[in-house]
Amino acid sequence: MENYFDTNKKELCNGCGACALMCPVNAIEMVEDEEGFLYPKIDKTKCIKCNKCKKYCGNRNEKDIADEKAYIAINKSKDELKFSSSGGIFYILAKYTIEKGGVVCGVTYDEELKVIHDFANNLEECKKFCGSKYVRSDLKNAYEKVKEYLERNTYVLFTGTACQISGLKNYLGKKCEKLITCDILCHANPSPKVFEIYIKNLQMIKNKKIKTIWFRSKENGWKNQTPIIEYADGEKEEENSYFKAFVLEMINRPSCYSCEFANKRRITDFTIGDFWGIEKIDSNVNTERGVSLLTVNSNNGKKIFKELQDKMIYEEVDYDLAASFNHYHNVKIHKNRNKFFKQMEKRKINEQNIIKYLKKYTKRPLYRRILGKIKYIINHVNL
Ligand SMILES: Cc1cc2nc3c(=O)[nH]c(=O)nc-3n(C[C@H](O)[C@H](O)[C@H](O)COP(=O)(O)OP(=O)(O)OC[C@H]3O[C@@H](n4cnc5c(N)ncnc54)[C@H](O)[C@@H]3O)c2cc1C
Ligand code: SF4
Ligand code: SF4
Ligand code: SF4
Repeated sequence: MENYFDTNKKELCNGCGACALMCPVNAIEMVEDEEGFLYPKIDKTKCIKCNKCKKYCGNRNEKDIADEKAYIAINKSKDELKFSSSGGIFYILAKYTIEKGGVVCGVTYDEELKVIHDFANNLEECKKFCGSKYVRSDLKNAYEKVKEYLERNTYVLFTGTACQISGLKNYLGKKCEKLITCDILCHANPSPKVFEIYIKNLQMIKNKKIKTIWFRSKENGWKNQTPIIEYADGEKEEENSYFKAFVLEMINRPSCYSCEFANKRRITDFTIGDFWGIEKIDSNVNTERGVSLLTVNSNNGKKIFKELQDKMIYEEVDYDLAASFNHYHNVKIHKNRNKFFKQMEKRKINEQNIIKYLKKYTKRPLYRRILGKIKYIINHVNL
């Protein structure tokens, strides 16, 4: 099997960092490249050529279930739905784990708005993981900490992207009874460096600090979610140039364009995403506060799902149909991606102007904008 170490092809490395932890002589360091993504770098003076790093890289997960199921799912608690991006299923899983005396590992902002994996051992603290942060998270020492908790016989709910969970499983190397895994149905993951520069640009324009960013604020409903920037003085502003560049696949990690996890063969206990296309499947579902697509992917997941059914409104649906509205396939690279990153490397795109370039490079050509307008008129005007 082709691998990153032999080929240097960036699309073959998702940055999980498992290889660095597996190396018996600590010869691997994870180093940020010019686009802001982490890759392993081998210190050849230390390497003993054992090939462990290659052996443990990639999707090596075995499945223990043949009848994966897909569900429309909504958390019954309206309060919990409010602070969740989709149907609030993550929080139900978090509650389950905390009630068992366990810990939850998820993605949050640190004080500098860097997106990181962190831990929580009570429900209040788990709220920091709610809401999608559309940035590649820094795993820090999450894998080692998960291992320590499991060795102490503590339940752990680990949430993240499928590639991060695959890396965790490769690192742990064996099935762990008390590990619950839930991946987000991600289609891609954007550069932390672009995000950092974007924040600096916003702060420079307003001349004040940002407190937080809500990528999926439900203020205008689940279907009309817009990113909201909240400043330290309480001002809120809608701004979507970064989000748009992410959705249009311009600022994402190279491995996301040929992701080996973007299919129905999920490697976790659960996968959670937005139930796009819900209105075409069941028009009676109340979509106002958010609807999740939940898939149950393992026997462990099946067992836990049975225990949690009274916490949600749910309905089984045809898996293929549900998948057809979402990202169970690789996304296409945006035509300006490489140009954008090259300009950023040369510092032509920087803290003073990144918003301008994000807008410029994602602007649709004139003929497509005209076509879009015509389509809109046909759909909205009764002729
Ligand atoms: C980068 C990214 C791309 C996504 N792409 C899609 C998509 O194409 N289609 C789709 O249907 N859904 C996608 N999602 C998932 C969707 O946005 C929601 O996160 C998901 O539906 C969970 O909703 P919830 O209401 O159950 O959870 P919430 O209460 O909103 O909880 C959020 C959960 O997401 C995790 N999380 C937040 N940010 C990150 C991150 N940067 N990396 C890893 N985990 C994170 C948290 O740890 C937590 O478990 C994506 C999410 C991310 C972060
Ligand atoms: S183990 Fe993870 S970080 Fe290391 S090369 Fe493979 S994908 Fe990249
Ligand atoms: S070949 Fe072995 S020693 Fe060398 S970097 Fe890989 S894991 Fe480390
Ligand atoms: S799209 Fe694939 S490679 Fe990219 S973050 Fe998601 S699981 Fe990882």
